[in-house]
Amino acid sequence: MNIRFFASGYCEAHEKIVNPLNGKGVSKFYAVWALIYLPEFGNILFDTGYTKEFDKATSSFPERFYRWATPLHLKPHQTAKALLGNEGINADEIQYVIISHFHADHIAGLKDFPNAKIICSKLAYHEVMTSKGVRAVSKGILHKLLPDDFENRVVLLEDFAKNIFVNDAGITEFDVFNHSSFKLISLDGHAKGMLGFLYKDEKQAILYATDASWSYETYQQGILPSKIVKLFFDSWGDFIETQNKIRAFETAHAEFSILFTHCAKTLNYIANEI
Ligand SMILES: [Zn+2]
Repeated sequence: MNIRFFASGYCEAHEKIVNPLNGKGVSKFYAVWALIYLPEFGNILFDTGYTKEFDKATSSFPERFYRWATPLHLKPHQTAKALLGNEGINADEIQYVIISHFHADHIAGLKDFPNAKIICSKLAYHEVMTSKGVRAVSKGILHKLLPDDFENRVVLLEDFAKNIFVNDAGITEFDVFNHSSFKLISLDGHAKGMLGFLYKDEKQAILYATDASWSYETYQQGILPSKIVKLFFDSWGDFIETQNKIRAFETAHAEFSILFTHCAKTLNYIANEI
C-alpha cells in the first residue's frame, strides 16, 4: 500500500480571494490528484487534475465564463494519463477513479480512464445530474467533461461503502476497499457532497481535505476566503463547520498532516516536476 501525489496543470487566482486579510498578488492553484496503490485492488486514482478537455468544454457560452474565471495552464506531458505512463501504468488498467467533487480541476481527466468505475457521493451525483445550463456552470459543473458512459460507470459511495460512521471529530467516514488505513470522508460546504480521505501507512498519516480550504495557513488561522466565493460554494455554513471538524480531528490525531488540494504546502508532496 502506498500513496503518491501529482499535479496536472494549474489556474491562477488572486490571493485576496484566498486570504482577504493578508493576500497579495496572484497565486497558482495546482490541480493535485493522488495515486493510491492497494495490493488487492491495484492503482486507484483520487481526482484526475486538468487535461485539455477543459478548453474544449469551455469553448462556447455559458461554459466560456468558467475559462475566463480560471484560465488553464497545462503542458501535454503533465496530464494524469501521461504522468501515469511515466510510472509504467497504463490508463486503461485503472479500475477506480474516486471524484472528490465535480469541479473541472478535479475531473477534467475522466475521459482518459475508460475502464474505471467512477466513485462519488450521492449528493455530488445528484447535483451533477440535475444542474443545467448557467446554474451548472455557476456551480462549477461542466457536463462536457463527463464520459458518454458516465451513468453506466458511476458508483455511489453510499452503496459502495461497507460501513459508514461518524468519527470523534464529527467527520463521516466511509469504509472502502476493506482497508482500515484508507477511508473516504465527507467534507461539506465547498461543493455538494465533496469528499476527501484519510490515509495511514508505516511512514505517514494524511488527511487529504481537498477544497475544504485553499490554504493550510488560512485554515489554521481561521481566515475565511473572500465572501465573493459564496456565489459558487454549496454552503458557507457547512464550509465553516467542516473546517471546525478538521481542526478537531487535527487536535485529536496530531500524527496526521492536513493537506488541501490547492495549498502551497501540498506541493512538497508532489512526485512530478511542475
Ligand atoms: Zn479545486
